[in-house]
Amino acid sequence: MIPVPFMAGKRALVMGLGRSGTATARALLASGAGIMAWDDDEGARRAAAEEAIPIANPLAINLAKADVVVWSPGIPHTHPQPHPVAEKARAAGVPVVCDVELLARAKPMSRFLGVTGTNGKSTTTTLLAHVLAQCGAPVAAGGNLGIAALDLPDLPGDGRYVLELSSYQLELVESLSLGVGILLNIAPDHLGRHGGMAGYVAAKRRLFDFITPGGAAVIGVDDGASRSMAAELSRLGLRVVRISVRQALDDGVSAPDGVLLDNGRPVCDLKDLPRLPGRHNWQNACAVYAAARAEGFPAKAIVAALATYPGLAHRQELVTVSDGVAWINDSKATNADAVDKALVCYDHVYWIAGGQAKEGGIKALEPHFSRIEHAFLIGEATESFAATLEGKVRFTRCGTLDKAVAAARSLAVSDGIEGAVVLLSPASASWDQFKSFEHRGDAFRELVMAFAGGHMP
Ligand code: ADP
Repeated sequence: MIPVPFMAGKRALVMGLGRSGTATARALLASGAGIMAWDDDEGARRAAAEEAIPIANPLAINLAKADVVVWSPGIPHTHPQPHPVAEKARAAGVPVVCDVELLARAKPMSRFLGVTGTNGKSTTTTLLAHVLAQCGAPVAAGGNLGIAALDLPDLPGDGRYVLELSSYQLELVESLSLGVGILLNIAPDHLGRHGGMAGYVAAKRRLFDFITPGGAAVIGVDDGASRSMAAELSRLGLRVVRISVRQALDDGVSAPDGVLLDNGRPVCDLKDLPRLPGRHNWQNACAVYAAARAEGFPAKAIVAALATYPGLAHRQELVTVSDGVAWINDSKATNADAVDKALVCYDHVYWIAGGQAKEGGIKALEPHFSRIEHAFLIGEATESFAATLEGKVRFTRCGTLDKAVAAARSLAVSDGIEGAVVLLSPASASWDQFKSFEHRGDAFRELVMAFAGGHMP
């Protein structure tokens, strides 16, 4: 836990009692702040009350007495509709911030590195933390992923915090100082929450308001919005390191063919990194390389550390190789776009898909259907996916994950194709049969390890 001593004797309202809100409430209480907390969900309020977090409905109290409102970024505070508590706080002139703001104020001597983008944030955040740790730096990673900001370890003075920052969090931060800010990419996403594309881009742009003098902005320039932002920031005199996996850059870090080029000079082959498959991961690796170089670490040590990254669970996670078949858990791929990234990595795919389908289903994946040997369909999406695959890809209606795993194993082993993979990449949400994508991925891993005998690769 990170103590927030500057809040001792102050009053705070904690809005939202999920992972970050609960950590915030605990840190504030432990630091001697007076707090009130609220969540619109009754279950969350009850859980918090059980650990003696004071609960009060903010609409029924005088908010003008609060020094700050600590807002959970998951709750809409501006678009599509401002939450009534956010409106009330603003009307009372009380600042509304998120937990990252308290972390920044609590650790003014620490070095912060921020990661944002539409896709790849978690991978890049954990990869960067891994690389810095391997290079010998005290480091902790969290924020939007994994550990909430105020639940991070209290690092010594020279410690570095690598923070995954969502656009929602960036809107609720004021005093962060970043040694490096990474913007991976921008694609239309969460537009309802930001009042359209311009609002979404503006929220991402905020990352660079926090770069300290001498700090670096690492920007993926393979999409138009990020490219324009890089150009604008260069004009403003910021040190910009450009990243591309589409073209070789003479000035920047690029990997158009999988070989990482530092200002055009070959450094290492990213295709050799088994835990970072695919062009999208080359983008993540290039960004991490650029950030670690900007922090002053030697190229050789960074490259060695990239090779030992253990990978993140549920994102093209290699579970095991059994009877010549690789088993891959990509349960996080809940839409066709994410599945696209996985399918292009393999030539002979036994594909487990289905769950609660998203709009558009799997039609966008048709260019990759030739890579699929057989599809095994589960959950509510079965019939709509079957209709798209009909006549193009052989498939079996399996109903549930356990049956799909058994059927995929039997066919993949009997086909005996070299390079065969069984890929759980569902193109669907999990909620029809599982609690979360993590729950679905864990179930897959357990089913696989049950017959693979516990031999992790
Ligand atoms: P985020 O934290 O932004 O959701 P993750 O690192 O958890 O991103 O990756 C989620 C999925 O997004 C991956 O399984 C992969 O399909 C895709 N992905 C990862 N990195 C990138 C990238 N740089 N560009 C596009 N897609 C990516």
